[in-house]
Amino acid sequence: MDVIHIGGTDEHGIAVTIRAEQEHVSPKDVVDHYHKSIAEDFKRLKIDFDNFSRTSKPIHKKMSQDFFLKIYNKGLIEKREGEQLYCPHCKRFLADRYVEGECPYCHYENARGDQCENCGKWLEPTSLINPRCKICGTTPIVKKTYHWYLKLDKMQGQLEKWLASKTTWKSNVKSFTKGWFKEGLRPRAITRDIEWGIPVPLEEAKGKVLYVWFDAPIGYISSTIEWAEKQGKPDLWKKYWYNKDTQLVHFIGKDNIVFHAIVWPAMLMAYNDGIILPSEIPANEFLNIETKKISTSRNWAIWVHDFLDVFPSDFLRYYLAANAPENSDMDFTWKDFQAKINGELADILGNLVNRTYVFTKKYFDGKIPSPGNYDDDDKRIIKLIEKAPDSIGTLLDEFHVRQATFQIMNLAREGNRYFDYKKPWNLIKTDKEKCGTAIYILTNLLNTVATLFSPIIPDGMEKIKEALSNDNFRWDSASELSIIAGTEFKNPGILYEKIGDRTIKQEEAKLMDDNSTNITSAKNKEEKIEKKEYVTIDDVLKLGLKVAEILEAERVEKTDKLVKIKIKIGEEEREIIAGIARDYSTDELVGKKIVVVSNMKPAKIRGIESNGMLLAASNDEALSLLTVDREIESGSSIK
Ligand SMILES: [Zn+2]
Ligand SMILES: [Zn+2]
Repeated sequence: MDVIHIGGTDEHGIAVTIRAEQEHVSPKDVVDHYHKSIAEDFKRLKIDFDNFSRTSKPIHKKMSQDFFLKIYNKGLIEKREGEQLYCPHCKRFLADRYVEGECPYCHYENARGDQCENCGKWLEPTSLINPRCKICGTTPIVKKTYHWYLKLDKMQGQLEKWLASKTTWKSNVKSFTKGWFKEGLRPRAITRDIEWGIPVPLEEAKGKVLYVWFDAPIGYISSTIEWAEKQGKPDLWKKYWYNKDTQLVHFIGKDNIVFHAIVWPAMLMAYNDGIILPSEIPANEFLNIETKKISTSRNWAIWVHDFLDVFPSDFLRYYLAANAPENSDMDFTWKDFQAKINGELADILGNLVNRTYVFTKKYFDGKIPSPGNYDDDDKRIIKLIEKAPDSIGTLLDEFHVRQATFQIMNLAREGNRYFDYKKPWNLIKTDKEKCGTAIYILTNLLNTVATLFSPIIPDGMEKIKEALSNDNFRWDSASELSIIAGTEFKNPGILYEKIGDRTIKQEEAKLMDDNSTNITSAKNKEEKIEKKEYVTIDDVLKLGLKVAEILEAERVEKTDKLVKIKIKIGEEEREIIAGIARDYSTDELVGKKIVVVSNMKPAKIRGIESNGMLLAASNDEALSLLTVDREIESGSSIK
C-alpha cells in the first residue's frame, strides 16, 4: 500500500495570541517554540511523518487564500454585518477564546467563545451566557462589525447525502453530525478581527484574517504539496488529492468532529469538484486523567516530554493503544498505568520472552531446537500463529486499535499457558524431542507477537527481533513458522522494567502539586517561551569581519588540534591560533582567503598570543572554513 503520513502544527488562532500576550513575546516566538517542542515529542514517541509542516509557511498562506477566493467566487462565502462581543476595557473585539462564559447547551461554566470543550459544540460568542473578557474579566458589550460567512446552510443537502453514504463510520461521528443537521446548518463567520493569521485576500477586508478552523485543515493539502516539492516532483500531491481511489483518513479527537465531518468536507466540495473528501474519520472520545477532564489552562495535564523523561516511549504507546477511548471517554490513572505495564508488558510478554530464552540457553545451547511431530496442543498454537496476522490486520484496518492490542497480548498469554501446560522442565528429562518442539513453537509465536506488536511498541519488539536475528519483520510472513531450527537465540535482556510504587507515588504527587497552585504555576509547568533576540547591523559591524590571506601555518607542538597561522589583512600581518589541525593540513591552509573577526580582544592560547578568530562552519564531525567565493583582496570588510 502506498501511504503518506502528513502532519503539522496549526499555528494561527487565539490560543497563540493569548499565550504571546501572557508571556510578553510575539506570536511567532510562541509558534516557533511549540513547533519545535511538538516535533521533538513526536520524534521521542517514534511517530514519524512523511512531512511535518507548519501553517505559518508561505505555501500554506497561498493555498488558504486560493481556497477562500475559489469558494468566494462561487458565491458560497458572503459578507454580512453581524454582532460581536467587544471589551470596552481592552478596546477590542473578543474573538473566539478571548471570551469565556457558560455554554448555552451543556451549561459548562468555562466554555470558550468558539467552542465548548465540555460538549464539543461549535459556538457563536454571542450565544454564551454571562460572557467575560478572558484577559481582564470585564463583561463585554455587543457591537456591530462585518465578517465573511461560509454559507453552510446552502450546502446542507449535499453534505447530508454524502454523510449518509458513510455507513462504516463510527457511531459517535455519525450521531454528532446528525445532531447538527437536525438543528439546521447556519452560515458561519470564517474571518476574524485580529492581526495574527492569514489575511483575507480581499481589498475590502483589510485588517481581517481567516478563522483558524478555516485555514488549519487546508494544512493537510499544503503539507502534501510541501512534501511533493521536497521530492522534486511538485505535482505529485495531485496524485493523492485528485484520485478517487485515495483513502483520506483523519485521526482526530471528538472536539474536532464538527470541523472534519462538516466544515472541511463543505470547503472541499465548494473548492473543486475533483478533489477527494474524507474517507474515514475515526474520531476518539476523550482520555481523562484521574477522572478529570484534561485541561492545560487549569494545569490538569501530563506533558509528553515530562512523561518520557521518566518512562520509555513504549509504555505510553502501549497504554494509549490498550486504553484508546474509541467508543467512550476513558480514564488514565497512574495506578492503572502501573498495573497495565507491570501486569501485561512485563509479566505476560516480558516473561514469555525471558523464560523461552533462558530455557533455550540452558538446555539447547542457545540454539532453537528442531521440531518433532506436533500433538494437538502444538497444532492449536500453530493455528493461532497462522490466523493472527489476518484477523489483527483487519482490526487495525477498521481502526479497532484497542481490540487489536488486546488480541496480540492474548497470543502472549496463550504462549505462557502453553509453556505452563507443556512443562518443558519435565519434558527435557522424559521426552527431549517433544520439549524441543515446544520451544520451537514458542520461539515462532514470539516472532509473530513481535511482528504484530512492532507498530505499537517498536523498541521492545526490536530487542526480540535482534535476539532472534530476524531482520525482516513482515506482516505477511508472521503467519508462518519462519524462525528455523538452529537459529541462535541471543540474550534479549530485560524487555520491560517494572514500574515501582515509589515512582508512581511521585508522579501522582507531581500531578496534584501542580494542580493545587493557581494559574501562574501553569506557566511554570509549561516550558518558558524564549524571546528571540535580534542583532542589528551595528552589532555585526562591531565584529570587524575581514577577508584575510593565510601566509604561513604551523602545528602548535604537543596539541592535537591547534595551528598557528600568520595572516595578512590588507597591509597588516597578524598571528592567530585556531583549532583546525584535525580538519586541515598546514600545506592546505597556505594561500587560502578566509574570514576573520578582526576586532577580537587578543588572547593567550597555550602561551601564544592570538590576534583574531577565523570563522568555520562545524557539525559534530567536521569543520569547513568560511572563504570568499570570488577573487577579492585581503583586508576587504564583510558587510
Ligand atoms: Zn478585556
Ligand atoms: Zn457545552
